[in-house]
Amino acid sequence: MSITENALRNLVAGDLVDAVEGGVREVVNPATGEAIAEVPEGTQADVDRAVAAAKAAFPGWRDTTPGERARALLRLADRLEEHGEELCRLESANVGKPMGVAREEMPITVDNVRFFAGAARVLEGRAAGEYMEGYTSMVRREPIGVVGQIAPWNYPLMMAIWKIGPALAAGNTVVLKPSELTPLTALRLGELAAEILPPGVLNVITGDGEPVGAGLVRHRDVRLVSLTGSVATGKWIARTAADTLKRVHLELGGKAPMVVLDDADPAAVAEGLKVAGYFNSGQDCTAATRILAAPGIYDDVVEAIVPAVESLRVGDPAEADDLDMGP
Ligand code: NAD
Repeated sequence: MSITENALRNLVAGDLVDAVEGGVREVVNPATGEAIAEVPEGTQADVDRAVAAAKAAFPGWRDTTPGERARALLRLADRLEEHGEELCRLESANVGKPMGVAREEMPITVDNVRFFAGAARVLEGRAAGEYMEGYTSMVRREPIGVVGQIAPWNYPLMMAIWKIGPALAAGNTVVLKPSELTPLTALRLGELAAEILPPGVLNVITGDGEPVGAGLVRHRDVRLVSLTGSVATGKWIARTAADTLKRVHLELGGKAPMVVLDDADPAAVAEGLKVAGYFNSGQDCTAATRILAAPGIYDDVVEAIVPAVESLRVGDPAEADDLDMGP
């Protein structure tokens, strides 16, 4: 049943491992409802093991230069590029993305790794100054330590990169938890990274929001927690992180309107909406999920968008390459 040659396992301390308590979860292809892989189902014990590995790896990684970290990330980008087609297939089967969409995302994902690799070498700081007589004050940017990172289901690999790229480039060590629904490309990312990064610098563990994501949020040795996900999860994390005075970085959902004024071209609005509202099955934090149309153009907009949306090609990504939407 597995779509990968080997079972995908967690990455902890440089090793590919099963869940501490042996749990397993079936991962489903949403286009067919069929199980396509089994992955470890984590518990608090997996959180503890991974955080300990990241903590142990931190002093060594912190003391590397930005140039050394950039070189490692650039190698990782090359590896992802070499495995691009395989990663697209995994993403398509696990998320239900048409292959065309997965292939559009892959070069952006790889380029993001390269961007973060370079960005950490050109960080700017404020100039030092004498604000009190006899004292020089300065701002020095330092990595914070272990960063817990929690990703959503809709762009699994790209969101994993947005999380780990800046954190690793800045000298932090990471425990990444992908969505329990779409963990396959993040686990493959872990495998590829294991050949490049020192043990423990990046750890990837799978499991539900509670206990694995929440375990990261509550853990005393995690210094910052970063979520890309829903507003409800973000609110819970912000509240819970306060107990250990963790820093929090949240990228949440939206409810973006498309505003249509009377002098707009309804046909252009309809074409724009096909992308802005329906790309990635409309499962996008910036998706245009509402249309606010001025009274003079309202009827014409409705008349234009209904056939435009009906023209979207929907289907099983495994069966056609030119779909607009999977399940
Ligand atoms: P979600 O909030 O249900 O889950 C996101 C992640 O949080 C998952 O890994 C989940 O396991 C974990 N989680 C759930 N409960 C948790 C808890 N109590 N503690 C810690 N972790 C917990 O979101 P989703 O459905 O996977 O993703 C879709 C959402 O993400 C949408 O709202 C979308 O707009 C948003 N999103 C935002 C961006 C952005 O860049 N702002 C990008 C992609 C998606």
